[in-house]
Amino acid sequence: MVFFEDIKNSISCDLNSKLNFHKISKEDLEKIRKFYSQIKDIKEEIFQNFFNYLLEFKEFKQHLSKKDIPLIKKKQKTYLEELLQGNVNQTYLDNRIKLGLKHYKNNISIFNFIAAYSKFVQEFFKYYPADSETYLSLFKLFFFDVSIFAQTYLISEKKKRKKIESKYLNLFHNINDGIIVINVDEFKITDVNKKIEIWTGLNREELIGKDISFVFLEESKVKNLLKEKLEKYPVLYLKGKNNSLIPVELSISFTIEQGVLYAFTIARNIQYKIEVEKQIEKLEKLYKVLSLTNKLITKSKNKKIMFDEIVNILVDTGKFKCAAIIDNNNKPISYSCEEETDINKLLKEYTPYFEEAISKSKTLRISSDEEEKIFIPIQEHDGNFVESKRKNAYLLFVVSESITFFRDEEIQLLNEIAEDLAFALYSMKKNKKIKFLEFFDLSTKLPNRRYFFKYIQDIIDKKGKNHFALVIIDILNFKDINETVNFEAGDLLLKEFSNKLKEILSSKASIIARIGGDEFGIILEEKDKEKVFRIVKEIISQISNESFSIKGKKIFLSLNAGISFFPKDGRTPEELLAAAEAAVEEAKKFGKNMCEVFNPSIRRDYLEQLELEQDLKNALLNNEFQLFYQPIFSIKDKKIIGAEALVRWFSPKRGYVPPLYFIKTLEESGLIYDLGAFVIETAFRQIKKWEDKNIYISINISPYQIKRGNLFDTIKEYIDLYNVNPEKIVIEITETALMENIDKAQEELYRLKNLGISIAIDDFGTGYSSLSYLRELPFSSVKIDRSFIKDIPENESDIKISKAIINLAHSLDKTVIAEGIETERQLKTLKRLDCDYGQGYLFSKPVPDKELEKLIK
Ligand code: C2E
Ligand code: CA
Ligand code: CA
Repeated sequence: MVFFEDIKNSISCDLNSKLNFHKISKEDLEKIRKFYSQIKDIKEEIFQNFFNYLLEFKEFKQHLSKKDIPLIKKKQKTYLEELLQGNVNQTYLDNRIKLGLKHYKNNISIFNFIAAYSKFVQEFFKYYPADSETYLSLFKLFFFDVSIFAQTYLISEKKKRKKIESKYLNLFHNINDGIIVINVDEFKITDVNKKIEIWTGLNREELIGKDISFVFLEESKVKNLLKEKLEKYPVLYLKGKNNSLIPVELSISFTIEQGVLYAFTIARNIQYKIEVEKQIEKLEKLYKVLSLTNKLITKSKNKKIMFDEIVNILVDTGKFKCAAIIDNNNKPISYSCEEETDINKLLKEYTPYFEEAISKSKTLRISSDEEEKIFIPIQEHDGNFVESKRKNAYLLFVVSESITFFRDEEIQLLNEIAEDLAFALYSMKKNKKIKFLEFFDLSTKLPNRRYFFKYIQDIIDKKGKNHFALVIIDILNFKDINETVNFEAGDLLLKEFSNKLKEILSSKASIIARIGGDEFGIILEEKDKEKVFRIVKEIISQISNESFSIKGKKIFLSLNAGISFFPKDGRTPEELLAAAEAAVEEAKKFGKNMCEVFNPSIRRDYLEQLELEQDLKNALLNNEFQLFYQPIFSIKDKKIIGAEALVRWFSPKRGYVPPLYFIKTLEESGLIYDLGAFVIETAFRQIKKWEDKNIYISINISPYQIKRGNLFDTIKEYIDLYNVNPEKIVIEITETALMENIDKAQEELYRLKNLGISIAIDDFGTGYSSLSYLRELPFSSVKIDRSFIKDIPENESDIKISKAIINLAHSLDKTVIAEGIETERQLKTLKRLDCDYGQGYLFSKPVPDKELEKLIK
């Protein structure tokens, strides 16, 4: 019992000197002993009563626990008997102290105790009268006993107060808030805690007695506050050290001590809170920067101007200290700083970081006490959205004011800005090369299919030069090769391959073109079949016997070739190409590295194509086509908002034939207009039937329909015929279709839009859409192609692309529909990316109209 030991040590344990102090002699004790021994019948209740007297005090009774009662009674008796037997020894003293402590803990005041004691003494003398000398000795002894109790009590009280005090002081000083005790009459500081000492840099002694203006900036505000006795006040400033100001929130309570009014003022430091608010503000600024960036890049035509504007936006709106765009040679192309800065000097210091950021393609941050610097590589976009193919072109460098500035979200936003810039750079570059792109393949720099056709047409048109051979070289399993090496390597391989072709053919060929992903077209102005055959064999043997070394890997290629002759095998470029194509297919049948010259027996494929065409014609006449509908739903709440109409062909002869199998044939044969008309009419009738339902129908339109230029008239005709609400019609056009025919498309789409029809860009991300082009088109939504959705969330670059598309679309006030959602995880990811709508097998496959109606219910 530590407390007991404490008290025992505090009360002088030298009993003799204590007795001496009370002038209690041995004779006194002897007299008492003698007197007590003569008492025959000791009345137990006299001792018991002492306790009963105490119990008369409410305070005591209330505090006493039941289990303490017998213990106290027993102790009471033991120690009193001990006392009356004159045994004033250590045992007596211990018991006396323990009992005193019990009394104290049970809330007995000295006053109560003495009162009860007095009653006990009176009763005692009533029963046991003594002579006057013994009386005196007994008096002395009783007073001595009371004095021990009083001492126990006082020491306990002091200890308790000390404990409370230290607790309070601990609280007072170590609390996270500043405390200032103020004498309200004089506006003087009477006490402060440690926090205030730390904040002000002044110690307690220096502050006590000083006017409150010593700590408060707005002293008159505080004085009013104290006068009015308002208990709360919003935000005030304390004068911190080195002339700093500390924003605090005050809470005041008032107490009167000895007639003086004191204000107990607790000041809560809200610096952190303010910082958090600042962070949010900064984040909002960054969002604004991002949205400004998006707007800017869609209209920028010039790199330098765009960079200049970006750095200005970052500094003016984003409140960065400095922002710069740096090129490959560590030179600033554009920069902007809040204050005048020697940018070259600043950049020089950080050159190693630029190089690291660029070479590792990663964002770097360098922090010092006052500033943080961040380096973000801007990767050149190749338009294919394939990360690995990108080169680091520029670096975005920003300086901010404090270490706390860059949180993860902010870095994320800055990265998005860099991503947008990359996208813009790509689109600018492409615009410049648009003519080139129209006729040339970017990766091999060879003419493309379109140019090849044009070229053939030109030589056909040139009279007199009437014999030539068309050769198609097809790389076998290029798709597989492409998947085993990566895309970048696949591209390199094509380049190497085309170089090799050029080398082998040198002056022999009049044109080498890339006419498909893995198909090359060659024109040999040669009518001798054997000679042509020999040249082609040479190509095949040279290429199949040598390996290509791509990124340290050896790759062998196998080829097939097909040859057709003008005018024998065809009179138009299309016919000639089809013949050569058929020959390639024929060659494949014999294995790899084979070459075949077109002959009438090969015409089978051709005929097959013709048969398909004939079947399609009949199908149109016999109404074998049907529309299915795939619901488009809101990702947020899974509500169906529309449905995409997809054509279905159930052929009595062929069974179900998927659209991808026959759409091309329809387009090439011109039948697409008939199908298109059927689709539009059916969809419009359906819209009419679903008039009361809150959904739209989305119709796929072929680029040929746009090219022909009567789309508007057809649609207008049906709108009038079926009297449908044009707002319930959406037209889907692929990105590539738009790009091929931008002027016509733009004109046609504006007319449609003016009718009230919405336009969605289909298969977005697969083509080469230019931002500035898109901006000029009147579309209302984009559909992210299924190929980007397929591998999310596993494929991070697909996520990035989807996010970029979504952000971009949103910044242009367009909505986004994700195609081909097949899993919950994809859906969840798209929700996180803030995608608006979705479509896919997860929700529903394309279904007949009646089934869609069930889904809506
Ligand atoms: P699209 O416009 O991109 O249509 C979406 C295609 O993806 C449809 O294939 C649809 O059935 C399929 N799809 C939808 N959700 C999923 C999914 O979760 N997973 C997978 N794996 N696929 C999904 P479909 O019906 O075979 O159509 C193929 C293409 O044919 C269409 O691609 C469109 O370009 C064209 N097409 C279809 N109907 C028409 C039409 O009426 N007119 C025109 N001009 N073209 C059409
Ligand atoms: Ca579509
Ligand atoms: Ca699509």
